[in-house]
Amino acid sequence: MKNISKRKILFCFGEGIRQEDESQILVKFFRYHTTYDLIPTSAKLVIFDTRLQVKKAFYALVYNGVRAAPLWDAARQEFVGMLTITDFIRILQSFYNSPNRKMEELEEHRLELWRTLLNDDVRKLISITPNECLYEAIRSLIHHKIHRLPVIDPITGNVLYIITHKRILKFLFLYINELPKPSIMLKSLRELNIGTYNNIETARGDTLIIEALNKFVERRISALPIVDDEGKLIDIYAKFDVINLAAEGTYHNLDVTLHQAK
Ligand code: ADP
Repeated sequence: MKNISKRKILFCFGEGIRQEDESQILVKFFRYHTTYDLIPTSAKLVIFDTRLQVKKAFYALVYNGVRAAPLWDAARQEFVGMLTITDFIRILQSFYNSPNRKMEELEEHRLELWRTLLNDDVRKLISITPNECLYEAIRSLIHHKIHRLPVIDPITGNVLYIITHKRILKFLFLYINELPKPSIMLKSLRELNIGTYNNIETARGDTLIIEALNKFVERRISALPIVDDEGKLIDIYAKFDVINLAAEGTYHNLDVTLHQAK
């Protein structure tokens, strides 16, 4: 991590924080730092050519231990989108829902073909430059409802890093003790109504994988608590666990239960 001095942060916030400024502490922090400040000195980045076979792409995500990759269109010589676990889920759903499509096609199809087939669900790449502030990055993640924001160097056109919510939280955590404490930090999640407390989507051990995949997409959720007959939490099935179907090559049968798949 590049060194960001404490002096800089104090300069930004001053000594005494008035009550009405309190809510601005984090906003100022994120406006002050650029996306470049967030980039670690060393990180793994995997990029896929859109001509890569779908099956190989998802194997490569598993093999490299990454959750997403920017997509490079060699003909257009530009990055055109992202490939994430959500895309894998959408592809599996689409196979399941079209009886004429054989899962073997997944082994042959290229990413570019899938982007055409998924058509309406495929978005143009949303990115940010290293000079823009973190506040802008957070705004973009929230506004576009995405979890991956590539930082692209405007001069070379190279992807430098992929910003995630986790990375932003980690960055804040590194400097939190050097910032004046906003009073919300002393409140509970419940008091602040952070999180979901009603209408929680759950699954059971006998829920089929395809049903879980549908829940992920329809409710736009990232994890399903698995509960027993009394509604007690016994496990969790996360969107990320779906990649195991690619790792183990078990995506041919989505009619198995979560219990069997785990
Ligand atoms: P994950 O599946 O890891 O939770 P997202 O929720 O961000 O990732 O992905 C949702 C959809 O948005 C996927 O189809 C993905 O390809 C797309 N997507 C994610 N990030 C971007 C981006 N920066 N630009 C364009 N599309 C994106």
